[in-house]
Amino acid sequence: MRRLRIVGLAFCLIALTGCIAHVEIAGEVMGTTMKIEAVSRSLSKDELNRAVLDAIEAAKKVDGLMSTWRDDSEISKLNRAGPGEWVALSPETYEVLVKAVNVSKKTGGAFDVTVGPLVDLWGFGAKSPAVVTKAPTDEQVEAAKAAVGYEHILVDANNRRAARDAAGVEVDLGGIAKGYAVDLAIAVLKDRGVKDALVEIGGETAAIGLTEKGEPWLIGIRHPNRPPPRFLTTVGLENGVIATSGDYFNVYELKGRLYSHIIDPTTGKPITNNVCSVTVLAKECALADALATGLMVMGPEEGMKLVESMPGVEAIIAWRTGKDTIEAKASRGARRYRLSP
Ligand code: ADP
Ligand code: MG
Repeated sequence: MRRLRIVGLAFCLIALTGCIAHVEIAGEVMGTTMKIEAVSRSLSKDELNRAVLDAIEAAKKVDGLMSTWRDDSEISKLNRAGPGEWVALSPETYEVLVKAVNVSKKTGGAFDVTVGPLVDLWGFGAKSPAVVTKAPTDEQVEAAKAAVGYEHILVDANNRRAARDAAGVEVDLGGIAKGYAVDLAIAVLKDRGVKDALVEIGGETAAIGLTEKGEPWLIGIRHPNRPPPRFLTTVGLENGVIATSGDYFNVYELKGRLYSHIIDPTTGKPITNNVCSVTVLAKECALADALATGLMVMGPEEGMKLVESMPGVEAIIAWRTGKDTIEAKASRGARRYRLSP
């Protein structure tokens, strides 16, 4: 009898492990890399594959709706409309725009959804030249800055539309759309019955459930000065999101100075506060993505104050202290992650 039970148990285990479908697809979307890994004990390999492909389609749709690099996106249409002219938006674009305006308010404009003209001016936008050969003049910076201010964005929830109240104001969702696409991809997977998955787009990541081994998904946070396998820290993600913004990619050098793609809307210039990496942990990737960009501008002091005031949000902020040295600190809820600066 006892032997039978053991044999029965062994059979169950084989049947169970034999039934795990595992799909991993990597590709490119929104001008960056995308990766989805999903495992399922209830879906067939085909069903899981289809769910992952649909999740990738959802992310592509976000790009089509919101990219300023596409003339036919809703955001490009909004940016071409006359001042005060209302533009009807899809539920997705409307949702992201409202989230972006809210983060703009929350960060006191450190993240600013209208930063576009400055992003273009400093060489990181759709309207920028391919190569920047000299820094813009103070006059150019002041002129572009005049069109920046999230309070110029008007939204109308009843009619799901938006407008800008002045000429020259532009919406740039570059700092939030990737995170939103991650959220949307996760929503598609969940809707298809996927319970365990990891979605990553250009460093913005969300996880549900566990890995095939039944462990949290391990995310290494890149060290600003060292290549993998060295990491600033490693985070085990179960049901949550993580977004990282860094100064070590999308930068250029002019006359020995580095110019980051993160712009401080107050100065109208790329940040000079030495912040080199910001990681935000939250429940929603759109928020984490935008907040990571905002905290890059705010810096460790002010940034941590904001994080500690936001329930469910944690952060790790690192800044450069010398040519090859950094320091880092974590918010209260993130102190359990050992940092190796
Ligand atoms: P990171 O992962 O480093 O945050 P992202 O691509 O998520 O990079 O965000 C950077 C993008 O956000 C820039 O390319 C630009 O379009 C936009 N951006 C730059 N500075 C700001 C800012 N202060 N507020 C809002 N968006 C910004
Ligand atoms: Mg970001």
